[in-house]
Amino acid sequence: MADLAGLVSDIASRLQAATDRGRVADYIPELAKVSPRHFGIAVITADGTEHVAGDAGEAFSIQSVSKVFALVEALSRHGNRVWDRVGKEPSGSAFNSIIQLELEQGRPRNPFINAGAIAVTDLIAEGRSPGEGLQSILALIRRLSGDETIDLDAAVAWSEAATGYRNAALANYMRAFGTIAGPVDATLSVYFQQCAIAMSCRQLARAGRFLMAGGVCPVSGEAIVSPERARRINALMLTCGHYDASGEFAFQVGLPAKSGVGGGILAIAPGRASIAVWSPGLSPQGNSLLGTRALEQLAHTMRWSVFNPD
Ligand code: GLN
Repeated sequence: MADLAGLVSDIASRLQAATDRGRVADYIPELAKVSPRHFGIAVITADGTEHVAGDAGEAFSIQSVSKVFALVEALSRHGNRVWDRVGKEPSGSAFNSIIQLELEQGRPRNPFINAGAIAVTDLIAEGRSPGEGLQSILALIRRLSGDETIDLDAAVAWSEAATGYRNAALANYMRAFGTIAGPVDATLSVYFQQCAIAMSCRQLARAGRFLMAGGVCPVSGEAIVSPERARRINALMLTCGHYDASGEFAFQVGLPAKSGVGGGILAIAPGRASIAVWSPGLSPQGNSLLGTRALEQLAHTMRWSVFNPD
């Protein structure tokens, strides 16, 4: 087996020097301030060994990676009722697209595009104040990472709320169909804040461990979700985790993974590793360019693609 420690530091030094780094998201003004020079990687294997390199300890805005944790929270609270509100199909459209909502009577295609995640957040916020809704997501993330210091970046949350017209359009459109039941403003407020949660690669890889381990946190032994649910969340990450580049990501990397426009990606090699990468420059579809390249090199060398026969 390849030397994982050497590989992780090799990947980091190669990608830290890369010149083609993609474009940092600028539609959320606060994210535009982040330097494209960052690169971080954290890999935690099934035996608990952690390999980190580059800016693995620096917190960044997890953005849409939060959609995984929000889904876990909504499923824990409402069970399969979640699937009455949101589908399980790849969208083939941009993460913030509205067109499919009109074609499919306000029902979003999956929980990992903005519309689907807003519908999931509405379920989390049901019967609670926005503060309680957000705290339930934060509490889950802190429990999964074993780190009570994780919090949101208030400047990013504010910046997104001040400019989130498209998300407001999606939420209002879904409210008209009853996909969202609660007050639109309250749901959006939780959504903007969950996207603004700041974590390092190390914290994010720790938070993903239960998905590599059949739903069980390998440190505490606690069942976070059932094995069946873990398998299903991984299936959705593989098919929907990179928006309209999900097929390309499965083709190149072959791992369940969820990206965010902050440049983070959480990837799961079931039974083998939980991996977080961060580089703020994005592809045109809004996925970290160097983060994807890092995962490609890692999955290829380690033979971690879920499509490998061994
Ligand atoms: N907060 C971002 C938005 O709603 C999340 C999008 C993303 O990370 N792809 O636009």
